[in-house]
Amino acid sequence: MFDDLLEDVGDFMPRKIAPEYLDFVKALKEEILGPLSGHDAVKGLRVYPVKQSRGRSYWKANVITIPVFAIHKARINPGFTHYYMAHELAHRFAGNEANHGHDFMRWFRILCPARYQHYELGYKPRLAAAAGISSKESNDALRNF
Ligand SMILES: [Zn+2]
Repeated sequence: MFDDLLEDVGDFMPRKIAPEYLDFVKALKEEILGPLSGHDAVKGLRVYPVKQSRGRSYWKANVITIPVFAIHKARINPGFTHYYMAHELAHRFAGNEANHGHDFMRWFRILCPARYQHYELGYKPRLAAAAGISSKESNDALRNF
């Protein structure tokens, strides 16, 4: 009975997968996780690119999805897909209960390259600012010193 349940979970596939980006999101996940890829929080985690309007986290099935728009957006907004993936992965490390609170932000800042963290200000401006994330403009200004 229990084994059947596990098998169902393992077989779960999200809708509207975009197969042309499968390798890309897999590689990006590994790149962002680096040495953390062996961590319990992401053990067996599968990631799929999808032609859906937003990414989702399927906790029981251990699957996250990255919408194709977040991949295309990186053409104009460098690193946007990095940011998006790091955000989704941070949820895994922080746990489902953490929402976008302190633990989530802590993991997000570990996982997301500093130069791309400003994208979080466009999503959760107050929480991101409270976590010490600064705008792209002020980051760029600091880089000139
Ligand atoms: Zn989120």
